[in-house]
Amino acid sequence: MKIFTSAAKLQKWCREKKRNGRRIALVPTMGCLHEGHLSLIETARRKKADEIVVSIFVNPVQFGPNEDYAKYPREEKADLAKCRKARATAVFLPSPAEMYASDHSVYVNEETLSKGLCGARRPGHFRGVCTVVAKLFNIVGPDFAVFGQKDYQQAQVIKRMVRDLDFGIDIVVAPIVREKSGLAKSSRNTYLDEGEKERAVVLSRAVAGVKAGEKAAAAKRRLRKMIDDAGLETDYVEIVSPDTLEDVKSVRKGDVVLVAAKCGKTRLIDNGKI
Ligand code: AMP
Repeated sequence: MKIFTSAAKLQKWCREKKRNGRRIALVPTMGCLHEGHLSLIETARRKKADEIVVSIFVNPVQFGPNEDYAKYPREEKADLAKCRKARATAVFLPSPAEMYASDHSVYVNEETLSKGLCGARRPGHFRGVCTVVAKLFNIVGPDFAVFGQKDYQQAQVIKRMVRDLDFGIDIVVAPIVREKSGLAKSSRNTYLDEGEKERAVVLSRAVAGVKAGEKAAAAKRRLRKMIDDAGLETDYVEIVSPDTLEDVKSVRKGDVVLVAAKCGKTRLIDNGKI
């Protein structure tokens, strides 16, 4: 497994692989890898990637000033071991200075799908995500990239960016990997104590608790109460159409339920398709 910290060197390596007809997959992550991330690597292999490039970069540009950038968990050594075990062929571990020149001044903005949900609560978040993912796409030039449904809005925003800016990269979205309890795996779960972990299970129960045919407003009220009663602080509960992310009035098969809530100090998200 090759380890790169230089964007230019990784780009050169990827271009050479492409010249030799190798099919490249990119799996972008912020590290502190868990089984959710490893499932994305597995998906890349199942989709017949010859080279699987995992990027590990806690992207400062996608964090707000009052968010957890400084304390976001970093586990470089363990992450490399996990990538090796999962048979990634290259890992990209850039420093912030490698990714952002001190006078960096170009950003990518998606202007519709990133307005609501997490975009409304985290101003600038998707601008940071789109910018870093566009950079990774340009560095690696993958045939396809794998993202998790865990971040449903993010996957939709990236698909739109790829379409609107003609990246010509297939976006594969892999299902959410969960703990046995139902809690969606997340690097931020490392912030939770045992009691919080138990309470946080309500999010997965909530997203599974909506049926086609229901009125969305009533379902949202019910979920919000469920989450608040479990001792979390609901940030949002939304039921949206899968591609436009617009609110629906009555719930149909294929719609998506998305929730975000604070459990103690930790903001968690989850979602599920009806
Ligand atoms: P992150 O490191 O949190 O930025 O996540 C990197 C990628 O892993 C994103 O595409 C996430 O959607 C995906 N991911 C995170 N958690 C999970 C999970 N529990 N199941 C599947 N994919 C996940």
